[in-house]
Amino acid sequence: MALRVEIDPDAGFCGGVIRAIGTAERFLGDNPEKTLYSLGAIVHNEQELSRLSALGLRQVAGADDPALPEGSALLIRAHGEPPATYEVAKERSLDVIDCTCPVVLKLQKDIRKASARISPAGGQIIIFGKIGHAEVLGLLGNTSAEAIVIESEQMLLDCLKDGRIRKDGPLEIFSQTTKDPDEYGRICNILSAECRNVSVHHTICRQVASRHSRLETFARGHDVVVFVSGKESSNGKVLSAFCKKCNPRTFVALSPSEIDPAWFRQGDKVGVSGATSTPKWLLEQVACHIRNFAL
Ligand code: SF4
Repeated sequence: MALRVEIDPDAGFCGGVIRAIGTAERFLGDNPEKTLYSLGAIVHNEQELSRLSALGLRQVAGADDPALPEGSALLIRAHGEPPATYEVAKERSLDVIDCTCPVVLKLQKDIRKASARISPAGGQIIIFGKIGHAEVLGLLGNTSAEAIVIESEQMLLDCLKDGRIRKDGPLEIFSQTTKDPDEYGRICNILSAECRNVSVHHTICRQVASRHSRLETFARGHDVVVFVSGKESSNGKVLSAFCKKCNPRTFVALSPSEIDPAWFRQGDKVGVSGATSTPKWLLEQVACHIRNFAL
């Protein structure tokens, strides 16, 4: 089967993930006698997690996890954490290595400021994001005003209808950094049309937002797209759905073993892309695996 295979030049880790992984690798290289604990998965990609685990990175569920010995080194990943996590870490004398992405740190700061501004007037903070996602939990921990998380346009409409979002109070809306910019735009338009006093904050990460238009060109420019992403990656779900919208022959795979030769036709131009949590080395493995079908 003759196939031409290209890797999306814009795919690969985002700046926040590169920074967190680089910090973990340096720590483990400089302190071979120590264990480094990561609060949650440092990246939502199973293969990269296995690679880091082989270097000595261990994962814990929280700063109070009994598996985390007092005084040990705890890495906070790019998603960030609520203030309560830092308090527990202090109580337990943990050595915090804070890899919260600077973009997320700014978002946390802006939410704190907005909360202080609207709280006296009974205002509400609206967060467009995934309920229970670590970044969203970190944002909620930084709000002193009442905060509501909405996951979709429908959820927003339901909250407006049943009064959970008060139309007459001051409202400030923020987005989780990895959400779909078009969907966020539609949500902000609905909220601004329905409510009197809305402040919209443009908080989608620029690396994510700018990828949509380039991904569209990449997806339309190939006969088939293989989108490589971990199952837990929020950004992977958003980008693969977007890719499928641009090119219905988009298939999602976690690793080379999930790739089905039946996806391809003779002479296809195949594009391999991935989420901000997909390592370049995995994209290369997948591309190489597909090229081998042609032999
Ligand atoms: S997607 Fe953007 S905001 Fe999120 S970790 Fe990566 S660089 Fe930071």
